Amino acid sequence: MIRKYQDLTKLEMESVDKKKNIVLIPLGALEQHGNQAPLGTDFLIAGTMPEYIERELYKKDKDFPMLIFPPMPVGLSTEHMNFCGSVSFRPDTYYHLLYDIGASLAHHGFKKLAFLVCHGGNTPIVQVLSRELRRDFGVYAFILSSGAFDHPDVKATVSPGNIWDFHGGEMETSMVMAIDPSLVKLETSEAGEPTAFEGNKSLMPYGKVSISWMGEDWKTKDGTPIGIGGDPRGATPDKGRIILETSARELVQGLLEIRDFNISDSE
Ligand SMILES: [Zn+2]
Repeated sequence: MIRKYQDLTKLEMESVDKKKNIVLIPLGALEQHGNQAPLGTDFLIAGTMPEYIERELYKKDKDFPMLIFPPMPVGLSTEHMNFCGSVSFRPDTYYHLLYDIGASLAHHGFKKLAFLVCHGGNTPIVQVLSRELRRDFGVYAFILSSGAFDHPDVKATVSPGNIWDFHGGEMETSMVMAIDPSLVKLETSEAGEPTAFEGNKSLMPYGKVSISWMGEDWKTKDGTPIGIGGDPRGATPDKGRIILETSARELVQGLLEIRDFNISDSE
């Protein structure tokens, strides 16, 4: 059964099989997502993605053993701090915050934690943390990336010519529109590109040869820092639903394998 962690009483929690149940911890962020999408975009996605995952899992296992932890509203957003409204932990604060959550869950006997990363900037901390939790507590911390942005069905939602779409672009804006269209102000949209890398064959903001990019590396055509990648103007709620559904579906097999992952050998 999939339940929200915070909904259980103490007695109900006592009867949870801690070895079997996965604790899914959605990790959001509170940071600028361009003119048109809300600061809480990644938090909204972190709150909604588990519902989509639950629906997809139900098709495979009606009794999937998982507790959904409250989504984390703030993450590591150093790269967006020079844009109004962005809020970030420092890397060590964020590490220790997640470490303490992991330690508490381990204290109660949970063995399988699954971090659902809904903001790419959180990933490096979670990668370091997951290994430390395993070493320190014997807890298995799995990492799930929330957006299936390379999936052909997701790529097909992006308008032709919108080649830089990622943070705060058409895909993320579409996801917010699928959740709550009133939060998106599409008429204020401006496109962002990493203009400093134009013409480069290898060095890019991300990839094999990359830079620790900051939001201001992403600019509008006239050179104004905008801090988003891509052109949000083609975003629609229907595209958002396709992205959320596809992304959830892409995680199902992994979650079934986490469910079946045998931890008894290593204890
Ligand atoms: Zn985002």
